[in-house]
Amino acid sequence: VAEKGRGRVDIQNDLASLLGAAGWLTAPRDTAPYTRDWLDRYGVPPIGVARPTDTQQVAEVVRLCRQAGVAVVPQGGGTGLVGASVATSPNTVIVSLARMNKIEMIDEQEHTAVVEAGVILENLHTALDAQDLSFPMHLGSEGTAQIGGLIATNAGGSHAFRFGMMSELVLGMEVVLLNGDVWTGMRRLIKDNSGLQLRKLFCGSEGRLGIVTRAALRLYPAQRERATAMIACPSLNAMLKTGQALRRSCGELLVAMEFFDTEILDLALHHIPDLTNPMDTATPFYILLELATSIDTLDLHPLLESAMEPVFEAGWAIDAVVAQSQAQRAALWRIREDLPEGTLREGRQLKHDIAVPVSAFPAFLEDSAARIAKILPGTRIWTFGHLADGNIHYNLSPPSGQVDFSNADMELSSAIYENAERHGGTFAAEHGVGHSKHAVADQLRSTTERDLMSKILMAADPEQIMNPEVP
Ligand SMILES: Cc1cc2nc3c(=O)[nH]c(=O)nc-3n(C[C@H](O)[C@H](O)[C@H](O)COP(=O)(O)OP(=O)(O)OC[C@H]3O[C@@H](n4cnc5c(N)ncnc54)[C@H](O)[C@@H]3O)c2cc1C
Repeated sequence: VAEKGRGRVDIQNDLASLLGAAGWLTAPRDTAPYTRDWLDRYGVPPIGVARPTDTQQVAEVVRLCRQAGVAVVPQGGGTGLVGASVATSPNTVIVSLARMNKIEMIDEQEHTAVVEAGVILENLHTALDAQDLSFPMHLGSEGTAQIGGLIATNAGGSHAFRFGMMSELVLGMEVVLLNGDVWTGMRRLIKDNSGLQLRKLFCGSEGRLGIVTRAALRLYPAQRERATAMIACPSLNAMLKTGQALRRSCGELLVAMEFFDTEILDLALHHIPDLTNPMDTATPFYILLELATSIDTLDLHPLLESAMEPVFEAGWAIDAVVAQSQAQRAALWRIREDLPEGTLREGRQLKHDIAVPVSAFPAFLEDSAARIAKILPGTRIWTFGHLADGNIHYNLSPPSGQVDFSNADMELSSAIYENAERHGGTFAAEHGVGHSKHAVADQLRSTTERDLMSKILMAADPEQIMNPEVP
């Protein structure tokens, strides 16, 4: 961002008088919680952190920053895994939406909610529970991630294959644009073809096109009955066959189908002492699945058992645990949610959030393992993710006894991303591009894709002020 207009002191004074002491933080002890990303890889101290309380304040902050030639980085819960919610240049103001956290309306007739962007997902879930409604976005960070951040990353999570990613769940939104104008696109409609689908453009925009301040969300009836199971599969092919059979037999009742390999399960059990393994049988792969319905007279357990019978008969599954209580259900989900923590505690790791068509799983995994073995023999591979939509979290640890990747980090990651693309997949599935995938985005996006994206970005932000370092 070009240094221009008035200086750093002026913007500090302007923002202090606009936002007051609680709304404009500059002391390092106050700004510290906002300055580093979740994985502690990015972030330099910014000029300060603005914490506006309404849309007009956000608009004024953006206008002042633009006038002063200062970069603006919107921040939600800070749980993003690609580093895009922090400053990478000191000439930056971070705009935290944390104080814009009102649930403005929940409409039982329409099945819609209107919320401010800083509402934490878990708080929305709790408010909806009380009204027998649900918002089907579920992910491990839901106790911290905010609606604005979920929109800006187009979050996916465990229920995406059934209910869609964030872009399918957002009906309308309000956005502060670079010039301080406010776009109010808050229609609460499923059908709205009144022109270009502007709201979708902001989904996945990673804070580059504007600051989302409010959103209208699509709700569903609360899920009152559930059946949750962990299934042991003796091979990759058996896991894919199990997934395919259960998708068909359980239909729309299947709301989540996660998978993980035995190595990452063992790692999590090793590093997290109170995590327990409910399975008696060790197999190369496991599925965690959940059926759910809003019809409270429908007992899903017999249905799940009869759906699993042919899977066991075919030998695609050899053991299963079905949760018999809410506590057992929570314990099964905890295994899945603690897997990233397990790899984190192992030390240095390379994380890759890729997706390939489900049919390409075996070829992708086989080719990737072969390429990794050539680059750095002994590199340990951990895989888990969302089986039904082909989203694999493909993480690496250095060979045993080694603390790093012998400077092969870039080569290893490029091999995985290229391999995903080669098999019809993507180098960025649900976490976005951010700072961590800058180089790979430049390398793997086609020229046409790059041009189109850059024209859209330049039209919205010709001065490159909004989160300018994100490609
Ligand atoms: C344990 C764990 C599990 C996770 N599991 C999943 C998962 O299953 N699926 C998944 O998709 N992600 C997952 N994530 C990643 C992360 O939680 C999501 O990307 C989430 O959507 C980020 O929301 P946030 O509010 O924390 O945004 P932040 O991290 O604060 O910001 C993310 C991006 O959005 C921009 N942004 C934030 N708020 C706004 C706004 N109001 N207007 C415009 N731009 C904004 C930021 O500038 C940044 O570019 C996980 C993360 C963790 C730590």
